[in-house]
Amino acid sequence: MRFCIICGKRTDELYNNMCRECYKENTELVRVPEVINITICPECFSYMFRGKWEKAENPYDIHDVVHDAILRNLAPKVKYIARAVKSMDVILDKSIKLVPYKKSKIDVTLLVEGLVDERVGYFMKSYNLKANIRWRLCPLCFKVKAQVEEAILQIRADGRKLDDDEILRIRNLVEEILYQAYEEEGKSPLIKVEEDKKSGGMDLYFASKRIARYIANAIQREFLASIKESYSTVGGNMREERKKITISVRLPKFKVGSIVLYRDRPIIIKDIRDGRIHAMDLRTYEKLKLTAREARDIEICKYRRERAMVLSITGSEIQVMKLTNYEVLDIPIERRPMWIKEGEGVDLITINGKSYIIKGVLGEEE
Ligand SMILES: [Zn+2]
Ligand SMILES: [Zn+2]
Repeated sequence: MRFCIICGKRTDELYNNMCRECYKENTELVRVPEVINITICPECFSYMFRGKWEKAENPYDIHDVVHDAILRNLAPKVKYIARAVKSMDVILDKSIKLVPYKKSKIDVTLLVEGLVDERVGYFMKSYNLKANIRWRLCPLCFKVKAQVEEAILQIRADGRKLDDDEILRIRNLVEEILYQAYEEEGKSPLIKVEEDKKSGGMDLYFASKRIARYIANAIQREFLASIKESYSTVGGNMREERKKITISVRLPKFKVGSIVLYRDRPIIIKDIRDGRIHAMDLRTYEKLKLTAREARDIEICKYRRERAMVLSITGSEIQVMKLTNYEVLDIPIERRPMWIKEGEGVDLITINGKSYIIKGVLGEEE
């Protein structure tokens, strides 16, 4: 039996006189610089790499941009000690506050998986370093910084008009973001707003791609909207063509108050907020909370909404009378909510020949 020179463990399996655990702990895979300098364009999120500007892969997420910029710039500066390196990644704490135009020095971790000794095999090691984040306008953004139109945000709803409540909420969201931009940069990048009467939508013209994308992203999250980008060339010279982007933001077919089918269940949408749909099942009055992914299973359906009055309640059946033609119907019900009472005015929703009772909204027309 021999001993590990570090921890004293008795074993015959020694590497450089150390047991497997101590060997891993005391063997370096790479050498990393203590500090790495990163330069990012605060407008389009391109970053410097070997003296050139590289386009950001995901310009919607500042943490992704900084992560990619660090990894890209760090990789050639890492000195290998290991015989082979299988993977290398930068770990960036998502809670670190990164603000365009604001210099910062952040802590990052480089995670390396490498091999030094065949008998020990691949193992992971992490290295801490600092990253200096600097912001500098890339030549393209520098040129257009003088409030030149860079992005158009087209806000529409899919197959319907935006309603007043949606327009108000979008306006508030835009104002909030512009106010922040104003605080940081001393000017608002919004050039003009045009309302599109036909679609009930609006077009916002921006002098900043970044803010336009940021707003598009916020609307997407808040309303479960979809985003599509398209480019058009708007002059410039041979070497640097200027591209303008049009971001089409489309709110879903349904809105608050819509009665739709979700996986064949009739539901009423009560609220759309923070990227979630709050709904109620019309058969069971059960509350539902749907994610954006689940919302893809929502289908628009034809329905009739009529005023009715509850005549009587017998066990699991509610007898109602339509106020339009005094027709009397028996509606089977799985669970009776408190507000269904004899003599009560309710709304009757009919989908594919089946009727459901919902709380009446007096004076509301559908
Ligand atoms: Zn040991
Ligand atoms: Zn730029």
